[in-house]
Amino acid sequence: MNKQINSIAVLGAGTMGAGIAALAADKNCKVLLLDISNEAANKGKENIINPKRPMMSNLENIKYINVGSFENDFYRIAEYDWICEAVVENLDIKKKIFSKIEKYRKRNSIVSSNTSGIPLKEITRGMPESLLKDVCITHFFNPVNVMKLCELIPSKKTSVEVIDKISFFLENILQKGVVYGKDTVNFIGNRIGCFFMLKGLHEGLYARNNNFSIEKSDALLSKPIGLPPTGLYGLIDLIGLDVMYSVGKNLETNLPEKDLGLAFVTLPDAELKLYEKGQLGRKTGGGFYRIKINTAGDKLKEVYDLKAEVWKQSKLETVDYNLDTMLEDSPEGMYIWNVMGMSLLYAADLIPEIADDIVNIDNAMKWGFAWRKGPFEILDQLNPIKVLRKCESLQIKIPKMLQILRDSSHKTFYSDNQEFLNLNGEYEKIK
Ligand code: NAD
Repeated sequence: MNKQINSIAVLGAGTMGAGIAALAADKNCKVLLLDISNEAANKGKENIINPKRPMMSNLENIKYINVGSFENDFYRIAEYDWICEAVVENLDIKKKIFSKIEKYRKRNSIVSSNTSGIPLKEITRGMPESLLKDVCITHFFNPVNVMKLCELIPSKKTSVEVIDKISFFLENILQKGVVYGKDTVNFIGNRIGCFFMLKGLHEGLYARNNNFSIEKSDALLSKPIGLPPTGLYGLIDLIGLDVMYSVGKNLETNLPEKDLGLAFVTLPDAELKLYEKGQLGRKTGGGFYRIKINTAGDKLKEVYDLKAEVWKQSKLETVDYNLDTMLEDSPEGMYIWNVMGMSLLYAADLIPEIADDIVNIDNAMKWGFAWRKGPFEILDQLNPIKVLRKCESLQIKIPKMLQILRDSSHKTFYSDNQEFLNLNGEYEKIK
């Protein structure tokens, strides 16, 4: 197999950098892992082989990973075919690293950023043409060795050969599911996923007014409708309210004018209070949920009551609802519609802005966010005609792809013959 990429320099040995280094070494690639100090890089390397949660299947392959510091070892990137930047999510820091990469890398090496959402055009603004033809975003999801998705986003000037080379490597060597996105804020998965989470937090008031507990909200927004068992609040506890806060700031700056998501970029008052007092999620010992160990040594799950501002014992909620509930007028139905339904409509308005077709969007949500089905597959399950009726009854502007479906003679986004509905309202074979 002609893979053309045999070695990777990973810049940043944190959660993601270590994960990317581990994955590449596991596939027998030579890896250079750099960070702000030798200690930081070595810590990343140790994390890879941590017996509690190893990031590699073949621990012997750790021998392929060499470590070093930005200060002393940057010049060594000249030996590597692909340079993958995975330092902190900060535009100025990433820009500095990119300028340094251009100084030391060899000709025709590929350069990528693993940013979660900063557009590539911002990172590479003012950089030379020689770099622009070789850059892209390779956005892996956490944990890298588990999540199938890698979003691949070229710049306007990236050469076709570079995209062919890196996509071949991601798919065939690293065994990732590659989704092609556009150079827009948060790319695909995080654009839709963050809308879902931020809109969900804003619907918390509706939930509390209808006496839904946090556990009930999570139960409604999880397995019954094809979402992961963490639900909404459990997921945000994993990610951290601090990350949600900065995601909101990035969206505020970079979302296009009139984007529906602009209304939800700031945390609602109750969550802002938690953010300000440092109750961020699992990393701070609790956010919406926490685990307490009682005197007998038993683990107890507690939930934070946002209205009374106290911790209470958490009760397991099982709910008897399904996807169709969101088309009903019950409080539960309206809640699911307001969070999940609006996220589906949001996704249906983002083509061709963030991706060329519905298949890339569906794959991103399945492979990166563990949704059982993608937004357009869910719309098909609900029946797009019923969704159109619901939009009309609520006087909601019909999103672009639903409009295209309505104007075509088709009733679903996917046909029985492995085809999807394209922007021209025609079925096209899925590649
Ligand atoms: P992290 O905090 O675990 O690691 C970041 C690394 O950057 C650290 O090793 C740190 O030493 C280094 N660093 C800190 N300050 C620096 C500086 N001034 N100059 C150079 N390096 C510096 O972060 P992470 O979660 O690995 O995220 C890395 C990138 O991947 C970010 O752009 C993030 O948005 C993106 N990302 C994160 C996730 C996730 O779930 N964690 C998922 C996808 C993408």
